[in-house]
Amino acid sequence: MKGIQNKEQALEIIKARLKPGRLAHSIAVAEAAKELAARYGADTEKAELAGLLHDIMKGAPPEEQLQWASKSAIMIDNAEKENGQLLHAPAGEAYLRTTYGIEDEDLLMAVRFHTTGRAGMSKLEQIIYLADMISRDRKFPGVELIREAAQKSLKEGVLTGLKATLTKLQKNGEAIHPRSEEAYAEFLKG
Ligand code: FE
Ligand code: FE
Repeated sequence: MKGIQNKEQALEIIKARLKPGRLAHSIAVAEAAKELAARYGADTEKAELAGLLHDIMKGAPPEEQLQWASKSAIMIDNAEKENGQLLHAPAGEAYLRTTYGIEDEDLLMAVRFHTTGRAGMSKLEQIIYLADMISRDRKFPGVELIREAAQKSLKEGVLTGLKATLTKLQKNGEAIHPRSEEAYAEFLKG
């Protein structure tokens, strides 16, 4: 991978950008992603790298996130612009593409869509979405259910993860991104 060749390099880069908690989370997501990739026949090295890098913009100030997100290859919509929780995903994608010359579209899209998911997710996108929910640092109510589902199949894991997210947002009266609903509907259909 041009720009970032291996996980040691990725680790150095995120160490410089992320606070200890977020760094530990990223390492945990990389481990979970590697395990899922091994179990479900994906590129384990790429999954690990994507896990390390997925939250690379999470610690950046909101204005910087917005600036980078505006350069995303998949244009940000108003829902993303207005939701501070979502911006770090498109921002990370643009940052990795621009600053490190990463050209692997699958890895970039795994970063781009890790918060909302989307219909037609690639295997790597599914792995990162799911790993981000079930990594060992995650302790929210219901996480065990998603972990169990992730043992059955990748599809079952992502479906359960999407369902948990949608249910939580609904309960809290928070906005649900249309892409998450589309992803859920698609997985439900099988
Ligand atoms: Fe994130
Ligand atoms: Fe994350």
